[in-house]
Amino acid sequence: MAAFTVISEPTAAGPAPMDLDRCVHCGLCLNACPTYRELGLEMDSPRGRIYQMVQVANGGPLTPGYLEHIGLCLACRGCETACPSGVPYGRLVEAARAEIESRVRRGWRDRWLRRFVFRHLLPSRVALSVAGTLLYLYEASGVKALARSTGVLKLFGRLGELEQLAPSAEPPFFFSQIGRTFPAKGNRRYRVAFLAGCIANISFARLGEATVRVLQRNGCEVVIPPGQGCCGALHVHAGLREEARHLARRNIDAVLGGDYDAVLTNAAGCGSTLKEYQELLAGDRHYAGKAQQFAALMRDITEFLASIHLNLEMGPVRATVTYQDSCHLAHGQKIRGAPRQLLSRIPELQFREMPFADICCGSAGTYNVIQNQMSLQILSTKMQSANATGADVIATANPGCMLQLQAGVRLHGSGQRVMHVVELLDLAYRNF
Ligand code: SF4
Ligand code: SF4
Repeated sequence: MAAFTVISEPTAAGPAPMDLDRCVHCGLCLNACPTYRELGLEMDSPRGRIYQMVQVANGGPLTPGYLEHIGLCLACRGCETACPSGVPYGRLVEAARAEIESRVRRGWRDRWLRRFVFRHLLPSRVALSVAGTLLYLYEASGVKALARSTGVLKLFGRLGELEQLAPSAEPPFFFSQIGRTFPAKGNRRYRVAFLAGCIANISFARLGEATVRVLQRNGCEVVIPPGQGCCGALHVHAGLREEARHLARRNIDAVLGGDYDAVLTNAAGCGSTLKEYQELLAGDRHYAGKAQQFAALMRDITEFLASIHLNLEMGPVRATVTYQDSCHLAHGQKIRGAPRQLLSRIPELQFREMPFADICCGSAGTYNVIQNQMSLQILSTKMQSANATGADVIATANPGCMLQLQAGVRLHGSGQRVMHVVELLDLAYRNF
């Protein structure tokens, strides 16, 4: 645990007593929790973490142990699904982290890194484009391949391990599409806005294009609203709620008044936060109502496509496919059927359910960077499940999970392809 000092009374409210009181300590959530499954420790289970939150809420100190156990939580919300008492665990852990953030002064390195990533990199198109270009040069120059093949990265210790999880750059970046409108193919049935996120513009630019194509094939006029930006999900997970509010207002202004039937994302992690803007902005008298309107329009791409009359003019995709639930889709948004239903519509695609498909893969936003060891341990377990299916494609519905699973294939896999559900649909349409 990095050095820290407790500096003040909280400026952010911690977990609400009303939410904490809902836990009846039954333990039914324990086996749904990836960290408990790996470590077998009560303090790293949902029930144990809630117990520790109660101690702090009752005036107990913020100890290094508390920070560690809360930090090791993936915020995957698997426990929320398992809990019969309706404990809103996602809300609890976000509030616990916001309280920690407001009371703890971290070491200078941590503070500098967090300020750079959360305030200067993620919200800025220019900064992300520069970072993406540098990443591309690192890959295109052959340095990346050389570093991996010679094993030199091992000399850099933790930095070397993190490199395995680093995204690739996919020029031309999707930023170049922001502000454009793409017409529907055939009759226009819907007018939708697509929010492309932040890092996904750099590392999943082809996925963004595939998303637009699939929507066009389904009678959608697709607008990429010019004022959009990072959704703030990573900020919320890190306890930086004020910064997240700023980003939420920006996205709301970019979308409302655009006469859209739906606002879409292809990133389940972003969608979960985008759908909760009304909670984030509940105390903002100018934006609380607008946030509600925004959240009412917000849909995950799989949720939207499964809800409309899907264009079935698809060609065959001859692949055996398994599906990894993205936590923020399955547990955060309660969407499990839609991606599976879409896969079942693709001709000749063989589907094989993987065991424990809704247990987190260890990606969890920036978790795989900050809690790298635990993330890799969880990933190794996940790959045993994926390998057991014998599938040659691992599908999922979140770019963050795709990155993690790609690393999983490199480390423990058998050459599987990792694809978004939308990319498989796009392939089927192109094969028609
Ligand atoms: S959110 Fe995930 S990691 Fe955290 S306690 Fe719940 S199940 Fe465990
Ligand atoms: S969080 Fe829910 S499932 Fe877990 S111990 Fe508490 S009441 Fe039981």
